Amino acid sequence: MDPTPVPVLRVALPVPLPREFDYLPPPDGPAPGAGWVGCRVRVPFGRGDGEMVGVVVAVGQADADPASLKPARERLDASPLLRGELLETLRWAAGYYHAPLGEVLATALPGLLRAGQPLPDTRQSAWQATAAGREVAAAPGRPGRPRELLQLLGVQPMAEDALDRQLPGWRPAARSLLARGLVEPVLLEPAAIVAPPVASPPEPTPAQAGAMAALRGAQGFQPVLLEGVTGSGKTEVYLQAIADCLAAGRQALVLVPEIGLTPQALARFRARLGVPVAAFHSGLSDGERARAWVDMAEGRARVLVGTRSAVFCPMVEPGLLVVDEEHDGSYKQQDGVRYHARDLALVRASKLGVPVILGSATPSLESLHNALCGRYLHLRLGQRAGGATPPRVRVVDVRKRPLADGLSAELLDAVGACLARGEQALVFKNRRGYAPVLICHDCGWSAHCRRCDAAMTVHAGGRRLICHHCGARATPPNACPDCASLALQPQGAGTERIEHALAARFPEARLVRVDRETTRRRDALGQHLASLGDEPGILVGTQILAKGHDLPRLTLVAVVGVDEGLFSADFRAGEKLAQLLIQVAGRAGRAALPGEVLLQTHHPDHPLLGTLLNGGYPAVAALALAEREAAAFPPYAHLALLRADAGTEAAVNEFLREAHAAFPAREGVRANSPMPAPMARRAGRARGQLLLDASQRAPLHAALREWLPLLRAMRSARRVRWSLDVDPTDLY
Ligand code: ADP
Ligand code: ZN
Ligand code: ZN
Repeated sequence: MDPTPVPVLRVALPVPLPREFDYLPPPDGPAPGAGWVGCRVRVPFGRGDGEMVGVVVAVGQADADPASLKPARERLDASPLLRGELLETLRWAAGYYHAPLGEVLATALPGLLRAGQPLPDTRQSAWQATAAGREVAAAPGRPGRPRELLQLLGVQPMAEDALDRQLPGWRPAARSLLARGLVEPVLLEPAAIVAPPVASPPEPTPAQAGAMAALRGAQGFQPVLLEGVTGSGKTEVYLQAIADCLAAGRQALVLVPEIGLTPQALARFRARLGVPVAAFHSGLSDGERARAWVDMAEGRARVLVGTRSAVFCPMVEPGLLVVDEEHDGSYKQQDGVRYHARDLALVRASKLGVPVILGSATPSLESLHNALCGRYLHLRLGQRAGGATPPRVRVVDVRKRPLADGLSAELLDAVGACLARGEQALVFKNRRGYAPVLICHDCGWSAHCRRCDAAMTVHAGGRRLICHHCGARATPPNACPDCASLALQPQGAGTERIEHALAARFPEARLVRVDRETTRRRDALGQHLASLGDEPGILVGTQILAKGHDLPRLTLVAVVGVDEGLFSADFRAGEKLAQLLIQVAGRAGRAALPGEVLLQTHHPDHPLLGTLLNGGYPAVAALALAEREAAAFPPYAHLALLRADAGTEAAVNEFLREAHAAFPAREGVRANSPMPAPMARRAGRARGQLLLDASQRAPLHAALREWLPLLRAMRSARRVRWSLDVDPTDLY
C-alpha cells in the first residue's frame, strides 16, 4: 500500500522564469489545503541561505519525487491575500502579457507585503481633543497655531497625515496642548476618523443628469465611456455613481493619472462621500500604501483613489471601477510587467460583474473605437458645467516674426493684458531646461551626449549641459570643439529660459515655474500653485500643468511651439498632441471668467491644428481613426514589440535576427524586420526592436506563446537584455 502522498505547495516566485516551484509544507504544520492558495510563504531559494517570498498558487501533487523537495520555511498569512477574481485577473494578466505569474503577483502586492512583512496595523496615529480641550476650543481665545489645532480637533479626531496636510507645522502646537492636557494622541481605525460629508453636490446639468440616470440603469458588467469636455462635470458624475454604489453597501475603486492625484482632488472626494476614502500613490510611504490596500481588502475603506498599481487593490464588496483620464499615458507600466491599468480595470470589472466608467475629454482611440462599435456605453457631456464658457482659441503664426527667447510679441502682449486685468496666465512649453540644444553658430556643431543618440539640454542659463535620457552632465565648452569658434549659442527655449524672459519683461508679476525640476518634492506642485493665490501672476511649465488643480483666475493659456509634435514618426503622436493641447487649453476659464488660448506655431496650416480648431477633439479622433484603419494600426490591429539592448550593436542584431527567424508563422500575424530603436543608443547601450502586428489577437498570442520558450533558449539571448511589450504605447 502506498503511503498517503504529501500535498505540496506550488509557489509563484518573482523570478523571470515562466514556471512555478514546488515546496513541501513547512515542517510541523498542519497539512496544507485549499485555504493556502493566495497566501504568502517564505521559501528557500538559490544557493546557501537564500530565500524568497512567494505566493501559493496551488496545492497538489508534486511533479517530481517529493523527497527531492525542500520544505517552505514559513506561511506568512493566516488567510489568502490574493484570491477570487483578483487572483483570476492576475493569472489572466500573466497569460496576456506573457509574463511569469510570480512577477505579476509581486507587481500586484504593495512593497511591504511583497517583501514579506506582516499585514500592517491599520490603525492610524491620530490626535483628539480631551473633554477639557473641547471646552477651551468652544470658548473664544488667542489666535495662533495651537488654537487652530484645538479647533480642528474639537470637531473630530484627526490622523497625523491629515494634520500634515491641513495644518503644516502642527506638531509643536500639539506638544504644548498635550502639556496642558487639552489634546491626546490615539490610535484609530480609519472609519473613526472620517468626517461626515460636508459638501453637497451642485444641481446636475441635464447632460449630467442623463449620464447619472444611464449609469443607475447599468446592470452587471458594463463598460462606459464618459466623454466630456474639460470642466463638463465628469467628476460630479463619478461622485454620484460612487455615492449610489456606497448606498448599495459596495466599494468603489477610482484610478487617476499620476499627476491627477492631488490633495485637492482627494479632498473633494473625501468631503463629498462621507466614508473612509483611502489613497494609493507613490507620494505615500510603504506603510501607508500597505494600510490602504488592507483597508480595502477588509472593507474598512469604502473608496480607494489611486494611481496605476491601485488597479490591483482587492475589494471585499466590489461595486464600481472608475478610470479618470483614461487616455493618460501613466496607466501603462513601462518596465517589468508592462501592463495597462485601464485594460486591467476592464478585465477586473468583467470578472466582478460590475460597471467600469472610463472618463476623458480626449478618449484614447482604442476606447473611442470600442464605444463607436457599441461595445461600450457611450455617454457624452458636451458643455462646461456651472456656466463656464469654452475658451476662445487663436493661432499665432510666427513664421518670419522675431522671437525673443522663443516668445512672440503677440504672446507677450496677451500675457501683459491678462496681468493688467488682474488675472493669471499659463505659459506652456513641453520642454524643461534652458534650451534643447547648444549649437555652434559658425559650423553647426551641436553638443551631443556621449552615451546617447541625443542632444544635451542646456540648463542653468547656459552653464550646464544635461542629457535627459541618461542623466549625464557636462560643462559647456568655451569654444566649439570642431572649429574653435566662440559663437556657441543655446538654440530654442525650454521652460527655464521662458521663465527668465517673462521675469525680465514682467518684473512685478508673480511667476511660478512648474516642471519636473521644480516639483521633485512631494506635493511641491500644490504648494507652487498655492503660492500664486488669487494674485495676478504667470505659471510657466510643462505638461505637469495640463491637469489637476482648478485655478479660477487663470484665463490665458499660451502654448509656445507645438511644432515638435506635428512631425513625429510615432503613429500615436497626433493623438497625443491633440490630447495634450486640449488638456492644456482646458485650464483656461474654468470658472466665471472667460478663457483664451493662444497657439504659437510655425505651421499654422498643419491639418491637425486646423481640424482641432474647427472640430475639436472628436474631429481629430475621427480623422485619426480613419488613418489608423487605412494603415492597419491599433485599434484596427494588435501589436507586440520585442525590445533588446546590449553593450554592442552586434549582440542586439544577432539576437533580433535569430528571434525573427524563429518566429512561428501564423496566418494574419506578421513579424517585421528588426530595426534599431528610434534612439539607437542610450546610456551607452545599443538598442533594437522587432515589431509584430496582427489583425486578430488570438493568433498573435498563440504565436507569442510558442515563440517565447524559443527566445529563452537562444544563446544570443544571454548577451542582451530583452523584453516583450504587448500593446506597446510607445514604439521607443
Ligand atoms: P471635469 O471632471 O469634467 O473636468 P468637474 O466635475 O471637475 O469637471 O467640474 C468642473 C467644475 O464645474 C468644478 O468646479 C465643479 O464643481 C463645477 N460643476 C460641475 N458640475 C456642476 C453643476 N452641475 N453645477 C455647477 N457647477 C458644476
Ligand atoms: Zn563650430
Ligand atoms: Zn545621455
